Amino acid sequence: MTAAPGGTLDLEELRSRCRSFLENAPRPDGLRNYGPTPTVDDIAPGRAWHRYLAEHGYACLHWPAEHGGADASVAYQAIFAEECARAGVPRQLAITGIDLAGPILIKFGSAEQKSRYLEPIRLGDHVWTQLFSEPGAGSDLAGVRTKAEKTDKGWRISGQKVWSSAANSAEFGLLLARTGPESHRGLSMFIVPMNTPGIAVRPLQQMDGESKFNEVFFDGAELSDDALIGEPGQGWAIAMVTLGRERLTLGSQAVTMFRLHDRMVQAARDRDQLDPLLARSMTRLWARMWLLRYTWQRAIDEGDTASAAFSVLKLMTSETDQDLGDLATEVLGTDACVDPSDGSDDAELVRAMLVGRAQTILGGTSEIQRNILGERVLGLPKEPR
Ligand SMILES: Cc1cc2nc3c(=O)[nH]c(=O)nc-3n(C[C@H](O)[C@H](O)[C@H](O)COP(=O)(O)OP(=O)(O)OC[C@H]3O[C@@H](n4cnc5c(N)ncnc54)[C@H](O)[C@@H]3O)c2cc1C
Repeated sequence: MTAAPGGTLDLEELRSRCRSFLENAPRPDGLRNYGPTPTVDDIAPGRAWHRYLAEHGYACLHWPAEHGGADASVAYQAIFAEECARAGVPRQLAITGIDLAGPILIKFGSAEQKSRYLEPIRLGDHVWTQLFSEPGAGSDLAGVRTKAEKTDKGWRISGQKVWSSAANSAEFGLLLARTGPESHRGLSMFIVPMNTPGIAVRPLQQMDGESKFNEVFFDGAELSDDALIGEPGQGWAIAMVTLGRERLTLGSQAVTMFRLHDRMVQAARDRDQLDPLLARSMTRLWARMWLLRYTWQRAIDEGDTASAAFSVLKLMTSETDQDLGDLATEVLGTDACVDPSDGSDDAELVRAMLVGRAQTILGGTSEIQRNILGERVLGLPKEPR
């Protein structure tokens, strides 16, 4: 493995290294910037691309060096994400294994789990899916009803999950399931091989036409004892760390908005629309994106990845993202009536608008982020439950 450029380089040198690496990297046929989650068709080119990144030290930048990561600073991670967005390529195969399951296994997994699962995640051999939400447990995650019953040999899983991103192409899942009656302490976290008999995956179609998330049904699926992460009853604590990391990752999307903003400005120029009023709206968004970018960096530099600051970032990033998609659509006018998958610059803006609807829901809705801010940051009275 070639070491990725590290701490001794200044930021501009890092940026130019990343840029020239990405410009010269061979692109597998069919590779596109599909965002955090690949579709089934994205898996083969995404895997080949990820493998190339891993072989050159650009995968799992935030992981500790002892697990094959680069111990990368936040600034470096942001630069790499930004340069990937600029080059129109994904920064990794998929979000769940690398940004969620990997760090969770590093923190809570047994030595055996680490040695078995981390390297295939790092190399892009295994896609993971997050099996938390259920039809009756989204915002109220402690309402999870999928059951894990102890058996002689391990655990038997029954129930249903929903909105499980990439479950239709995942090799493994990170499952939050009920092992006891107590609301929070009755939850445990498991590793699920998705080819286990008794698991059925049904893709759901989104409004942009793609099928990235799924329903997952468990009908007495048998897991071995070593599928449990940590202790029985530790699932809620692990889930909270996972969701904190998810907010952190989603918040970081600020860096990728700059490319869309550029596209939007270009679309307005091409249509001779850039009057002072529109320019003011665009400049406001631009300023919000920079504020987000620096707030994100500062929050991570402070070191507390469980901090409520990430709720602010998640909230502001997803709303800015949505506003960007909406303004871009206004610029396009009737040109917004394109097939979002046609690969054109206009289609990229339309897709951003459509995908933007999901941003204020996934990883905890805006209302829930506001509740967290009200209660944990502003110290307002807790909402009645
Ligand atoms: C694109 C996408 C990908 C996703 N990927 C995954 C995944 O991979 N794995 C996974 O497990 N989940 C995933 N999710 C699910 C996501 O985490 C949930 O959709 C989210 O937590 C909201 O839960 P819900 O859909 O059940 O809505 P609900 O919880 O039913 O909420 C419905 C509405 O009520 C509001 N509301 C609920 N409770 C309160 C309250 N206490 N105060 C104020 N308002 C409230 C919400 O804000 C929302 O507007 C994904 C979702 C999306 C959109």
